[in-house]
Amino acid sequence: MVITNRIQDFSMRRPAVFFDRDGTLNEDRGYPHKKEDLALIPGAAKAVHRFNAKGYLIIIITNQSGIARGYFDTDDFKNFNAALRRALLLEGAQIDLILHCPHHPKFSGPCSCRKPQPGMIHTATKRLQIDLDTSFLIGDQTSDLACATAAGIQGHLFEGGDLHEFCNDQDLFK
Ligand SMILES: [Mg+2]
Ligand SMILES: [Zn+2]
Repeated sequence: MVITNRIQDFSMRRPAVFFDRDGTLNEDRGYPHKKEDLALIPGAAKAVHRFNAKGYLIIIITNQSGIARGYFDTDDFKNFNAALRRALLLEGAQIDLILHCPHHPKFSGPCSCRKPQPGMIHTATKRLQIDLDTSFLIGDQTSDLACATAAGIQGHLFEGGDLHEFCNDQDLFK
């Protein structure tokens, strides 16, 4: 019975795309936290929508040291996320989970969640049934890629432009 349960459990696991937030899904104009500062990256909704349709879980993992620095608070962060979710949903794109690191070593001491550490990926795998072998990460910083490497998944560096075209060029919709 135990073995059967394990097999069922394993078969429920889904691939995930881990997205960085600022600079990958929305424009990064420096600690964005006000909804009037929200601007989607071109092609972001289209890309997420395509991954939704392919059965990927969509998980945002984002460093938000602006909280530790006192630039904004958790409510601001959540309100911005709500606006981001709404903007994406208007174009048929759904986010399954948003995880953040509110820390910065200088202001709040060390933590295990701030990228390039893989803590947020580990947290996601505890919350959702994720198949890491078929999962990957897309981010705009080398720390995003290092986080992916630390978690043992592929990382793709998005250096601006249209996110959907980027994913196409990288053959990520296959
Ligand atoms: Mg970024
Ligand atoms: Zn942290």
